[in-house]
Amino acid sequence: MIDIHCHILPGVDDGPVTIQESMLMAREAVAEGISTIIATPHHRNNKFENKKNQILEHVSEFNSLLDKENIPLTILPGQENRIFGELLEDFQKGEILTLANSDYLFIEFPTSSVPRYANRLLYEIQTEGITPIIVHPERNKEVLNNPDILYNFVKNGILTQVTAASVAGYFGKSIKKFSLQLIENNLTHFLASDAHNTTNRTFALNEAYNLVENLLGIEYVYLFKENAEFLVNNQSITLEIPQPIRRKKILGLF
Ligand code: FE
Repeated sequence: MIDIHCHILPGVDDGPVTIQESMLMAREAVAEGISTIIATPHHRNNKFENKKNQILEHVSEFNSLLDKENIPLTILPGQENRIFGELLEDFQKGEILTLANSDYLFIEFPTSSVPRYANRLLYEIQTEGITPIIVHPERNKEVLNNPDILYNFVKNGILTQVTAASVAGYFGKSIKKFSLQLIENNLTHFLASDAHNTTNRTFALNEAYNLVENLLGIEYVYLFKENAEFLVNNQSITLEIPQPIRRKKILGLF
């Protein structure tokens, strides 16, 4: 299994602090059935900065450690970019890293909003031949309140990644429900762990896949697992036609 979103590198962000903690995560990943992880440190999220070259160095160091310890896990380089106005300029400067050297790029929105310039910026990224993947849209308040924002992005060829723990219910009932709606409506293309540690932000990938299989059908499981492979190989992923989320106004929940 491939995990395309994970904070496993030691001491670079709010993931593991020590090498020992990273190793614990690595062992847990292997136990979970994961063979390949894209390490995606936070970049420019107001707290952490991890430029391309620094990440590449960390990844190769960590891979040597895994090798030494005989842990059957491969780390590929990636980056979780908080959206910012000069992202494309920084990309051209060589500070931004796509996922596993592919033409897919992680973009994170702030927790509560979708910046007004997102539309234009994502389009400009696309015109550079890069496909943006919006990470965990299910945890963004503005998207949760108005899913049509996401529908319009996906309709325009932008991809999204839902977090396994969201599906499993670790971020609460409404985020779980919304995650399943995103999957059902073809508004997401990848499931990934976004794991940060082995305690409160773990992998939960199998748990999420089992839930998806039981609630929505095994075809989604195949689709997501295959898409992760396509991404790592820089191939086109499978796109289903997205549907807007129509909410019944019962109980005044939304
Ligand atoms: Fe993350």
